[in-house]
Amino acid sequence: MENDHEKITTCVVCKKAQGYFFVRKNGFDLYRCGACGHISPSPFLKHDSSFSYDEDYFSGAKTASGYIDYDRDKEPMRPVFVRYMKVIESLCSGKGRLLDVGAATGFFVEIAKKIGWKACGVEISEYATEIAQKKGLDVVCGTLGSGNTLEEGSFRVITLWDVLEHFQDPHREIHLCSKLLMSDGILAISTPDSGSWYARSTGKRWPLLLPPEHLHYFTQKSIKIFLENNDFQIEKITKIGKTFTLEYTLLIASGLRNFGFLRKIVTFLKKYPRVGSFAIPINLRDNMVVIARRT
Ligand SMILES: [Zn+2]
Repeated sequence: MENDHEKITTCVVCKKAQGYFFVRKNGFDLYRCGACGHISPSPFLKHDSSFSYDEDYFSGAKTASGYIDYDRDKEPMRPVFVRYMKVIESLCSGKGRLLDVGAATGFFVEIAKKIGWKACGVEISEYATEIAQKKGLDVVCGTLGSGNTLEEGSFRVITLWDVLEHFQDPHREIHLCSKLLMSDGILAISTPDSGSWYARSTGKRWPLLLPPEHLHYFTQKSIKIFLENNDFQIEKITKIGKTFTLEYTLLIASGLRNFGFLRKIVTFLKKYPRVGSFAIPINLRDNMVVIARRT
């Protein structure tokens, strides 16, 4: 085990042999590339990296990852998603079909539909898909490659909100997105920025280091190389901040330094849902929104 930490890995993004051991967390070894900054799991150890997106993930929040109540936790994000869409629309010649990958309970699909897009989604969790379908949304259960009937070359926009970091093989998924997009289609990604000031200053304690839920941690440099190698050209990288509920913010903070008392406050707030759902805008600038065009 210790010897593995001495080993140097080849970066899955820039292919340079400059990956050095960075941190062991939740039993996973993460390596950071000295050339592009990309952080990814050790290729030396075979981890069981199957992560379960079941009901607990969307409504249990027993750990610092996952959600208390997905739709309620996401509610403050509504204006943020509308801002994302304004940026996307400024790069499109019109509206059309939009696919949301990792659509969860259809929160974003519903927003896109409301502003005139023909929006649908794919979602790996049966539990979340069922909720989306009950809302009357076109969300199918599965992954991009799981034999669904999505038509190639038919989407003007594909969105991956907080999804790319979860994939075991991001190259494969982006390749599938590329096939589904129209020839000049837009890919919109939000993902943690491991090269951001906050990520670098918190280092091994960066709250978004969450293997095996998060497996790939891009930097602005590594995502540019990654997308260009997959026939996309970057149109824009922005740092639109997120907005969370008070309850969710405390939950994340309690995981950051094992502050048990914050978790107690979360439990306490459950009795006062109106206080707990109070919206807090947060911009630690450690998330990036990347918009790219298929070339
Ligand atoms: Zn690299």
